[in-house]
Amino acid sequence: MRYQDRLAEGALGKYAAALNARAARAGLPGRLTADGLRDRILESGGRCEWCDVDLVDAEFELDHVLSLKQGGANEARNLVLSCPDCNRRKGQKHPARFAAEIFRETGRETKLIARLFARYEIEAAQQLALFDRATGASPPSVDASAELTEVPPYNWTK
Ligand SMILES: [Zn+2]
Repeated sequence: MRYQDRLAEGALGKYAAALNARAARAGLPGRLTADGLRDRILESGGRCEWCDVDLVDAEFELDHVLSLKQGGANEARNLVLSCPDCNRRKGQKHPARFAAEIFRETGRETKLIARLFARYEIEAAQQLALFDRATGASPPSVDASAELTEVPPYNWTK
């Protein structure tokens, strides 16, 4: 989808239907509507919520912050606006891990990244060490397998 002043109703409906079909195949509840997607998209201010790149007049995607495979809900509050590159790179990574990866690269703590760091009680400085093998730092709050089955309620949009 392209980010423009007027988001095409048909495109929003198709996008919602595609996400709903994916959730249904996985046997997960949650149903998105075109209106829910539009609200979420407009809240983002037209920037990738991961890397902060400007998406006005550019292609964008919607990313389940906590992926469906990790028990994330197919609801607007679990969606963020993402550039195609971030969405592909994130894949099934835990959101806190991907937040750290992007923060390390860009040095920008977007609202989403700040929220994830706060949610998982991670200091940005500590996050940087997660990927620095030389320090041998262990990231228990990110690697704990319990988090991979985390269930709602959570809300990445407020
Ligand atoms: Zn991005």
